[in-house]
Amino acid sequence: MTGSYDLLVVGGGINGVGIARDAAGRGLSVLLCESNDLASATSSASSKLVHGGLRYLERYEFRLVAESLAEREVLLRCAPHIVRPMRFVMPHVRELRPAWMVRAGLFLYDYLARRQTLQGSRRVDLRVAPYGAGLKAGFKLGFVYSDCWVDDARLVILNARAASDRGAQIATRTTCTAATRVAGGWRATLRTTDGRESEVGARAIVNVCGPWARSFLTQAVRQPTTFNLKLVQGSHIVVPRLYEGEHAFILQNDDRRVVFVYPYEGRFTLIGTTDIELSGPPAPCQASVAEIDYLCRAANRYFVRHLEVGDVVWSYCGIRPLFDDGSSNPSDITRDYVLRADGSASEAPVLSVFGGKITTYRRLAERALEKLAPWFPALPGPWTGTVPLPGGGVGDSEARYAGLPRELLADLLRRHGASIGEVLGDARSVADLGVHLGADLYAREVDHFIRREWARTGEDVLWRRTKCGLHLTALERQQVDHYVRQRVH
Ligand SMILES: Cc1cc2nc3c(=O)[nH]c(=O)nc-3n(C[C@H](O)[C@H](O)[C@H](O)COP(=O)(O)OP(=O)(O)OC[C@H]3O[C@@H](n4cnc5c(N)ncnc54)[C@H](O)[C@@H]3O)c2cc1C
Repeated sequence: MTGSYDLLVVGGGINGVGIARDAAGRGLSVLLCESNDLASATSSASSKLVHGGLRYLERYEFRLVAESLAEREVLLRCAPHIVRPMRFVMPHVRELRPAWMVRAGLFLYDYLARRQTLQGSRRVDLRVAPYGAGLKAGFKLGFVYSDCWVDDARLVILNARAASDRGAQIATRTTCTAATRVAGGWRATLRTTDGRESEVGARAIVNVCGPWARSFLTQAVRQPTTFNLKLVQGSHIVVPRLYEGEHAFILQNDDRRVVFVYPYEGRFTLIGTTDIELSGPPAPCQASVAEIDYLCRAANRYFVRHLEVGDVVWSYCGIRPLFDDGSSNPSDITRDYVLRADGSASEAPVLSVFGGKITTYRRLAERALEKLAPWFPALPGPWTGTVPLPGGGVGDSEARYAGLPRELLADLLRRHGASIGEVLGDARSVADLGVHLGADLYAREVDHFIRREWARTGEDVLWRRTKCGLHLTALERQQVDHYVRQRVH
């Protein structure tokens, strides 16, 4: 990697790619570097909800909730293939929150932002279908409201694609190890995973390193800061399907936290999450037995089917990079974001992102560009609110591929939407899709992930470009890895 750019975006999670896309669309030259794969850290380990955050109302976070609620409709419009409405059912437990409090919260939730497509909230009788399915007999009253589900990792990939389509360079497996201010900008050192080093120039740096944002700022950029991050681990478990229906549950727990439960990848149910504050530096994490046990107990309080640790078919763990607002309880730390620009009229800026949610990434990117505007005076205004992400527009592809099995086509459309033609090209039947790698995964799609979506390993394909990892045997997963490595080298 060489050359000189307007922006060097460091970090390929949702906030990095969101900023890269927005900036490239405003005409800036952008280089984004990511140490590993896109979305390999927090942005593929979320609860995958585009949500206002009902719970944040209890902490009076009205700004964050209103912004998040409004973003649901925006993201539904821009990426309907990977974002979908979901109805959430909260079984009422009088001892945990009185009904008037839940109703007041849901009233605010319905009216804090304009709703165009999402249904409002209402009371439901859990003794009749469909919302009582799978629940223990004692639950009579419930409340149902709307939020959205998103394929978090694909949201990252699609933003990277959109940035690249507008001219941004996306360098995965490339770490920014150091950056120094020089006349008129920055000189940054980049190192690829195979050890090659290069230097690039940039007028501004955007530090979107998620859990590493503070250490990048203080160690690689040597910019002192008083801002701190709290790192809070959260885990999810996936179990065989617990109940019938496409709705989700929000379960109140006796520690005042809530746990989400929803149908996942057809045959499964996803349950999450936990809040464990970490004291050391960020490192790859795994769901602990205690977290799995906590999530099973939360579900067991409500569902007829009893869950045990042995029922878990997959789990994942992520680290929330939360802006340290002084709260001592990890569940109470704000989920809002803070942007900080260090620099002056004569000094090139480094803009750092602390905190944030998947839900608010697009607005965060707009605010990041507002913060950078003094250094880029002719910058055009915001544009991402109405422009579809790749695959989010209208396509006629479904009819073209009617010769493929219905289930397979549905899965491909869920991943690629209107861009399905880019993946399938002239293929008309399964025989045209190349080697069958297991479940609904064929060589033609994997080749697309390598060619257009920066996939370099089996893991990139199995757990981030798709969730086929859940549906393949261990041997099939190895074969996918082998296939990808052969194609890449
Ligand atoms: C358990 C859990 C549940 C969540 N649920 C939700 C939810 O349902 N809805 C929601 O809206 N939000 C949710 N979130 C929050 C959301 O996932 C995060 O706020 C968001 O993913 C953070 O994105 P990011 O881009 O800031 O960080 P990351 O995704 O962590 O990206 C930072 C990237 O920077 C890279 N990097 C670090 N240092 C360097 C360097 N020196 N050079 C190059 N690259 C570097 C890392 O490899 C990493 O990929 C959840 C989070 C967790 C952990």
